[in-house]
Amino acid sequence: MARPEHNPAKIIQELQFFGEFGGVNPSISDSATYTFLKAKTMLETFEGNTEGCYLYSRHTSPSNHYLSLALAKMENTESANVAASGMGAITAAILQLVNAGEHIVSSRTIYGGTYAFLKNWLPKFNIETSFVDITDLSKVEAAIKPNTKIIYTETLSNPLLEVSDIEALSKIAKKYGIKLIVDNTFTPLIFTPANMGADVVVHSLTKFINGANDTVGGVVCSSNDFINQLKDVNDGSSMLLGPVMDSLRAAQILKNLRTLPVRMIQHSKNAKYLAEHLENDGVKVSYPGLKSHPQHELFSKMMHPEFGYGGMMTIDLKTVEMANEFMERLQDKNVGYLAVSLGFYRTLFNAPGKGTSSEIPEEERKAMGLSNGLVRMSVGLDFDIEDVYRKMKKTLEEIGYFKTDLQTQ
Ligand code: PLP
Repeated sequence: MARPEHNPAKIIQELQFFGEFGGVNPSISDSATYTFLKAKTMLETFEGNTEGCYLYSRHTSPSNHYLSLALAKMENTESANVAASGMGAITAAILQLVNAGEHIVSSRTIYGGTYAFLKNWLPKFNIETSFVDITDLSKVEAAIKPNTKIIYTETLSNPLLEVSDIEALSKIAKKYGIKLIVDNTFTPLIFTPANMGADVVVHSLTKFINGANDTVGGVVCSSNDFINQLKDVNDGSSMLLGPVMDSLRAAQILKNLRTLPVRMIQHSKNAKYLAEHLENDGVKVSYPGLKSHPQHELFSKMMHPEFGYGGMMTIDLKTVEMANEFMERLQDKNVGYLAVSLGFYRTLFNAPGKGTSSEIPEEERKAMGLSNGLVRMSVGLDFDIEDVYRKMKKTLEEIGYFKTDLQTQ
């Protein structure tokens, strides 16, 4: 469970990293390489045996180090390593833990890019993945084989908003001596997966954490030992594949991280308002803050309550035509943008069935309940959410939604 003594928002706010001239923000390291007074220190730094020395920015840089430190604190892990993208973090973490001929058990509802990596790319190295309904723990355990190395899941899944029972999954992982990797991109601050037994926590920083939609980024948070393995000059996947974040971006994401607590509270407040009102109108809404969500109780048990149930919700309009009509009209009314990604100050909507989840074959999407008409919304920081709600309801009326048999009541 989320440990009450771990208060991630307070930790982020109180972290002090001063600049070299007393700046309230740390100085940005604008260098790819670093000079040494003594050749011996250079060698020791290459071997990873010096504290506070930098050799080359693919290994790490002061700016990347500050951001990594802050994210490790937020996720309550010993260490972290930022990456150039969420996929750069996810693929490095997976490749560090699995070898040719081994096996992964993964949630079947995950981000399309991660799904494609597991399903289409890893088989090149004879690494096979079994995709399971992660909410059915008996299916997860039954899928484990003698050569399984990883259980992979998302705390709140993209796009179906299924909630993973991290504590129970961690118990299964420990029973079989394998690692649990959790993607916490949809729910930063709301969940602290490491407190519930996750071995590795990954994020796409592109989303809520940076919150400005001006860059991509990622992070792996884990033990000192695992992060050192990722950065090992001889066989570390982050070091050798090289998905390095640029220092200027790291400095910028660190500044945006400072406001994440207030942003998450507002995203959650707005999404809850919309979900409750639209559900009352009979709209088929999925939102973990609604009692009708199948894992509402589980979410409530795992969460840091002050951050709410998050900014992500879905509405099922059944057909792609209906979904497209709805989204285009919402954009015309300036309710938000027809765009992929999430965690922005404006509401973003897209239909993932034919878009960001299209890597998942149609029959599998059907089996998991991902209809082509599913609209995923990342609810923005709108000041006047009542107005957004009125416009959404009116748009649903205009496209004839309430005349169909799609409603819940
Ligand atoms: N994880 C989740 C849950 C995502 O939604 C995404 C992107 O949409 C990623 C990972 C990949 O992150 P990035 O686009 O930063 O590589």
